[in-house]
Amino acid sequence: QQAVIGVTGLGVMGRNLARNFARHGYTVAAHNRTNTKTKALIEEFGHEGEFLPAETPEAFVASLARPRKMVIMVQAGAATDAVIDEFAPLLEPGDILIDGGNAHFADTRRREAALRERGIHFVGVGISGGEQGALDGPSIMPGGSPEAYESLGPILEDIAAKVDGVPCCTYVGPDGAGHFVKMVHNGIEYADMQLIAEAYDLLRKASGMTPGEIAETFRTWNEGRLGSYLIEITADVLSHVDRATGKPYVDVVLDQAEQKGTGRWTVQAALDLGVPVTGIAEAVFARSLSGHVDMRGAARQLAGPSGGGLDHSFADDVEQALYSSKVVAYAQGFNEIQAGSAQYGWNIDLGAMATIWRGGCIIRAKFLDRIREAYESDPNTPTLLTDARFAAEVGDAQNAWRDVAVTATKNGIPAPGFASSLAYYDGLRADRLPAALIQAQRDFFGAHTYRRTDRDGVYHTQWELPDRPETRTDA
Ligand code: NDP
Repeated sequence: QQAVIGVTGLGVMGRNLARNFARHGYTVAAHNRTNTKTKALIEEFGHEGEFLPAETPEAFVASLARPRKMVIMVQAGAATDAVIDEFAPLLEPGDILIDGGNAHFADTRRREAALRERGIHFVGVGISGGEQGALDGPSIMPGGSPEAYESLGPILEDIAAKVDGVPCCTYVGPDGAGHFVKMVHNGIEYADMQLIAEAYDLLRKASGMTPGEIAETFRTWNEGRLGSYLIEITADVLSHVDRATGKPYVDVVLDQAEQKGTGRWTVQAALDLGVPVTGIAEAVFARSLSGHVDMRGAARQLAGPSGGGLDHSFADDVEQALYSSKVVAYAQGFNEIQAGSAQYGWNIDLGAMATIWRGGCIIRAKFLDRIREAYESDPNTPTLLTDARFAAEVGDAQNAWRDVAVTATKNGIPAPGFASSLAYYDGLRADRLPAALIQAQRDFFGAHTYRRTDRDGVYHTQWELPDRPETRTDA
């Protein structure tokens, strides 16, 4: 008997992914560098399906049906390269090597190109949903050759989460497309979490609500347009009381947020592509700021507002600010996917990405159906903010959004996500931006030239001369 698919790297994600395949009736080859993990998988979960445990890479590869399909589920970076180097020589042209880790899309592009030369299909797959998702059905974002997807796709779609019967998995595009989309997914996740955290902080500090009361508010919000996995788990966290101290659990957790790097990658890639992802960047920097214990300690003595005035009834305003800021963060993330797709020739279907994020993944939300519809009605929309429904909703919410930003500022409560999203909205909306002045400054000190509103051409003003003559430089 041969295996339909194999998994090497049976850590938190790999072992649940292997179980998911087995539960769906696929015979799964299982391998791990340290053999005890393979044994443990078979002992604990062998009854869930057909597993072919292998102690060596050779035995693992020999147990796979051709064309071989094997998933690598190890840490991104050096470990992934080491495993590829170990297994690729054992594979044959036509075989499919799948990287399910959180690889950087540039690494995936490099690996895909190198393996393509040897006739091996390398598929970089973004997988979201954490440990439980891997077992019960994750959101899966595969990138690679369409040919590889033809035989691999149906298996991945089978084990993915389903929403209204539609699998949360679809072909994303060539080489690094899948890992790029997964990266932006994580960036949006950072922004979403930051915005929810700001909403909590404002309700607590400016409204004087308790964590338990805020949990109730979040539960109500979860019934409406904000309905999502992240809002749901936030309500759960906020209603939890620490057993040891009897305090709200959120009060005993150290307030220094950690990160593994995918949010940072999203911002770095956006900088390279020239896409403003201010909401995601604020979220990455807010985590970073929280970790600067030395600066925070020293800054505690800095002056704060002399009483901003508490607002006891602004939960509804905060909902509007959260919703609007969330639209901005998602709009920015989708713009980054659009730009990456154009840059690397991936031809990514944006509506399809919203569709496969509706279930399985961390940012799953009702809201994604709206995004799918927005791209269905206009696949080339320059920004989700101008989609008729989003524009109307944010238009209705914007006064409350502004009030929340003012309350935060007056009370000295940091709300960088809300504030910068609002600035982005106003920046896009503005008739004229002070970028005109920046162009003039650039021309003044560096002769960088500028264009005029009233005629064609590129101009330079000789600022050093008393009458400041203007010359056309492109004529
Ligand atoms: P774990 O730490 O639980 O497992 C890591 C696995 O990698 C182990 O099986 C380990 O083998 C193996 N490994 C590490 N280095 C090597 C190497 N040099 N050669 C061979 N095997 C090696 O990691 P996770 O399962 O959490 O994560 C795996 C991947 O999935 C990562 O890329 C992660 O970013 C991604 N991911 C994780 C999610 C999560 O929620 N945890 C969600 C989505 C993606 P050994 O037992 O011998 O040490």
